[in-house]
Amino acid sequence: MIDLDMVTSDKFREVMSNFATGITVVTTVDKHGKPYGLTVNSFTSVSLDPVLVLVCLDNRLSGFVSFKNCKKFGVSMLSEHQEDLSRMFAKKDSERPPNIYVEGKLGMPLLRNALAVMECEAVEMYAGGDHTIFLGEVKTAEVFEAGMNPLLYFRGKYRGLKGN
Ligand SMILES: Cc1cc2nc3c(=O)[nH]c(=O)nc-3n(C[C@H](O)[C@H](O)[C@H](O)COP(=O)(O)OP(=O)(O)OC[C@H]3O[C@@H](n4cnc5c(N)ncnc54)[C@H](O)[C@@H]3O)c2cc1C
Repeated sequence: MIDLDMVTSDKFREVMSNFATGITVVTTVDKHGKPYGLTVNSFTSVSLDPVLVLVCLDNRLSGFVSFKNCKKFGVSMLSEHQEDLSRMFAKKDSERPPNIYVEGKLGMPLLRNALAVMECEAVEMYAGGDHTIFLGEVKTAEVFEAGMNPLLYFRGKYRGLKGN
């Protein structure tokens, strides 16, 4: 038997950082219609029939109530040219200018020049420790930039498909 240590939150972070992901910006609107978004890599495809995805959102996010109240969210998958946007949407209190968005059919703010986008209706919200799992039924979806490569995140660093 291999002698593995019991996990701590630091070890969990270190281990999880080995799981390479794409990067999305997940958005919604507040009660005044103002866009709110954050960088998210917990985005996962769940089901084809019905078409479902999930995102896990930190319960302490400043915009958390907006996600709960609006019950709709947008997902923009970032391209390798959008690292600056990922950094901006991961930074507390950063200025996120409204002109970076285009409005989807469901009224969700979506990022211009994203690889692909979708709008979802939140059909379930599950408690998941210090996060909440938002299960979304995908209502609209489109590929914006078919020829571009994705932005990747691995071991705490942004990467491209070729490594860097
Ligand atoms: C690659 C990457 C992937 C990410 N994926 C996810 C994801 O899947 N889900 C997710 O929820 N976030 C994720 N984040 C973090 C998220 O992007 C940022 O926390 C968020 O964008 C910060 O912006 P904000 O203005 O909403 O900050 P705020 O909502 O103001 O706060 C940001 C963070 O500060 C902390 N915080 C706020 N209030 C308190 C408080 N009272 N006490 C203690 N701590 C507090 C929380 O951790 C909170 O998430 C990711 C970040 C990166 C870089």
